[in-house]
Amino acid sequence: MARQPRLHEFRLIEQLRRAFGRTGAAVARGIGDDAAVIAPPKGRQMVLTTDLLIEGVHFDLRTASFEEIGYKAAIANLSDIAAMGARPEYALVAIALPASCTTPRILRLYKGIMGACRPYRVALIGGDTSVSPNKLFLSLTVTGSVPAGCALMRSGAQAGDLLYVTGTLGDSLAGLALLSHGRRRATPSLTSSERKFLVGRHRRPIAHPGLGQLLSEHRLASAAIDISDGLSGDLHHLCEQSRIGVEIDAAALPLSPALQAYARASRTDPVALALQGGEDYELLFTVPPAKRRTLHRLARRAGRRLTCIGMIRPEAFGVRVRETTGRLRRLPVTSYVHF
Ligand code: ADP
Ligand code: MG
Repeated sequence: MARQPRLHEFRLIEQLRRAFGRTGAAVARGIGDDAAVIAPPKGRQMVLTTDLLIEGVHFDLRTASFEEIGYKAAIANLSDIAAMGARPEYALVAIALPASCTTPRILRLYKGIMGACRPYRVALIGGDTSVSPNKLFLSLTVTGSVPAGCALMRSGAQAGDLLYVTGTLGDSLAGLALLSHGRRRATPSLTSSERKFLVGRHRRPIAHPGLGQLLSEHRLASAAIDISDGLSGDLHHLCEQSRIGVEIDAAALPLSPALQAYARASRTDPVALALQGGEDYELLFTVPPAKRRTLHRLARRAGRRLTCIGMIRPEAFGVRVRETTGRLRRLPVTSYVHF
């Protein structure tokens, strides 16, 4: 702490505590002591995840606002909690601040983080603050809980299970492409509302803890993962850990009207966008066929869009895509690369 007077740090932490901290029945001690003290959730298991974001590696302060960086950091963690079938509960935030990070900027960063957390009533219960020689570092930890024995793993899928995905795929990648300059001229036929939708999906993705909990609490899913690096890459993780293969039906992939318009305008293959697009934060999960009807009934009641995009096959089948022409081809592992 040699390069920053402790007084400023204390003042900042006090501001954060007042704006975002919470104590209550379950939080005996939040921000302000040596560590937080929380009541263990009865009959439940804790689920913990952490993400480290580094300026210049995971985000760029020239193109993203502090609020957007905080928001997306929180979504990445909330999506991990969702993919375990858990309910998000607490957040801890560690930051290393370069001199350029003034208090208003840090408060905007937290506004983004806590804005993403608010719908789930996640409480900020602690963190750590340091100076950094020149880059901003942000490490976010989110905890949650799940009924004991109900957590959704990547490893439970079995041949014959159905493969499902929430929402639509590829929108975030198309939004990112639209943000990188030159694309506006390359896609003149895209309407402003289509543009806005895709950019919004990139800038303000959403996580799906509600659906994750529905899947775990009703014991519907045999395995689950969130799509942070693209369907293709994340599906390979699921296949490896479950020791299974999969057949994806290209014609079934859920594509938004805006993504289809973007693909036409940019002459790209919408299926490739859906398979490779990163940062969609949709949930990918497998369901035994006997539970299919219950799944559809509960999803309809919750107003959630789910799409069956394929079927789990034995490991020797590999990971393949049934193209619209009927041809079956291997799906290469392609993962989203930051920037
Ligand atoms: P210590 O030196 O014991 O680690 P700190 O001064 O770092 O104590 O932290 C004091 C309190 O403030 C703790 O409750 C800690 O969790 C909280 N805190 C520190 N930095 C942050 C931060 N960036 N965001 C949220 N809470 C923080
Ligand atoms: Mg500390």
